[in-house]
Amino acid sequence: MTEQSDQPLDATPGGDARVPVLAIVGRPNVGKSTLVNRIIGRREAVVEDVPGVTRDRVPYEASWNGRAFTVVDTGGWDPDARGMAQRIAGQAEIAISLADAVLFVVDAAVGITDADEAVVRILRKADKPVVLAANKVDDARTEAEAYSLWNLGLGEPYPVSALHGRGSGDMLDAILKALPETPPESEAEVGGPRRIAIVGRPNVGKSSLLNKLAGEDRVVVDNVAGTTVDPVDELVELGGRTWRFIDTAGIRKRVKSASGHEYYASLRTATAIDRAEVAVLVLDAQQNISEQDVRILQTVREAGRALVIAFNKWDLVDEERRHYLEREIERELVQVQWAPRINVTARTGWHIDRLVPALDRALEGWETRIGTGALNTFLGRLVAEHPHPVRSGKQPKVLFGTQATTAPPTFILFTSGKLDAAYERYIERRLREEFGFIGTPIILQQRPRE
Ligand code: GDP
Ligand code: GDP
Repeated sequence: MTEQSDQPLDATPGGDARVPVLAIVGRPNVGKSTLVNRIIGRREAVVEDVPGVTRDRVPYEASWNGRAFTVVDTGGWDPDARGMAQRIAGQAEIAISLADAVLFVVDAAVGITDADEAVVRILRKADKPVVLAANKVDDARTEAEAYSLWNLGLGEPYPVSALHGRGSGDMLDAILKALPETPPESEAEVGGPRRIAIVGRPNVGKSSLLNKLAGEDRVVVDNVAGTTVDPVDELVELGGRTWRFIDTAGIRKRVKSASGHEYYASLRTATAIDRAEVAVLVLDAQQNISEQDVRILQTVREAGRALVIAFNKWDLVDEERRHYLEREIERELVQVQWAPRINVTARTGWHIDRLVPALDRALEGWETRIGTGALNTFLGRLVAEHPHPVRSGKQPKVLFGTQATTAPPTFILFTSGKLDAAYERYIERRLREEFGFIGTPIILQQRPRE
């Protein structure tokens, strides 16, 4: 979201729940790509063949002992550097600036070269955790060579054979220790009923809609075994599934429009949105879209929830109002063009069967995950077709990206220089064109390396 681009990265909904990044550094031929394949279990090796994306800037998804992390091979990144030493020094600097930890690979059979020494100096100065891999230790006999690497001052050397897998378990354990802990992705109540908040101004028809939806099938919360449901929530059967409607007490209760009450009503709305996975904003189709409606939309976006917009009281909409409303939607709802919209009449039940398909689409978009390979193919194409404009002599560039989380889809873009808000919007628009993301906000976080 553009609005979030100026905030610190951690200020996004859900906190910094991203997957940590491990950068691999080392001179050519020490076995970096063999080691990458070993770490990722060769799952994504095909990415090398993707046109327009070199192997080197593609991050790979890896996991060990149930913890996920991203592996970035920094080899060959610095086309400007002349000699090999500069190139590798450049690699190390990139790695340090963007990664959470560095895996420094040396060839134990060859020993330490000048180029390796240059990297060591940079790594020692940086305060990023480093794991030292002494590669090509194919048997116990060569292991002794590896232990002479203690005197590099980078801590314990891990003897490994990228080729045969020898020692890679201990090295991966050390990598996990070096990477920051990340909270498990919020899988609160996996498999439980979907949580919906019906929100909107007073008198738009929220409780009429809820009554129509719940109908005869209303489930008494106390009777549902094994569920802990907030007493203000209600479980409702829709389309053969159970859904949890959040804070229906707040919907049913008549809220007087004295200013104090309004404050509590909006607080209640915000809390309901926060507890929900998807919000249904109910609008009175007869009335103009108001500032209050736009504020609620803003709350949904900031909370990072999926969204469906329901235009209620459609029985009262005539041809003239309909035309006017279309223009109003273009004007007032431009920020949430991605939200599915349905027209309903809660009073009669007309079209309310369209709500479930709309909710499903929105939740699907909210939980969409784009594979790292596909994402970077897309980003490579996007950057080639539409480079960032030059700003005071500099041209910021997207190096690569990774989707850190779903619900809502959150992307981390590793960049050289800070991207404009306009360019961020462009990326978001293209992401939606390419991958859908119907019904969900998208969060873009930038990680510029200076
Ligand atoms: P990179 O340039 O650092 O990415 O190195 P590569 O992964 O391309 O490996 C360079 C060469 O070293 C290749 O011929 C690999 O097969 C070989 N190699 C990589 N790891 C090992 C290892 O653990 N043992 C042995 N004997 N050879 C290895
Ligand atoms: P809430 O305050 O948002 O919960 O709104 P209510 O459900 O209490 O509805 C407010 C008023 O709008 C009531 O008089 C309803 O009968 C009326 N209403 C709700 N839905 C419709 C509809 O689809 N068409 C018409 N004509 N009136 C409706």
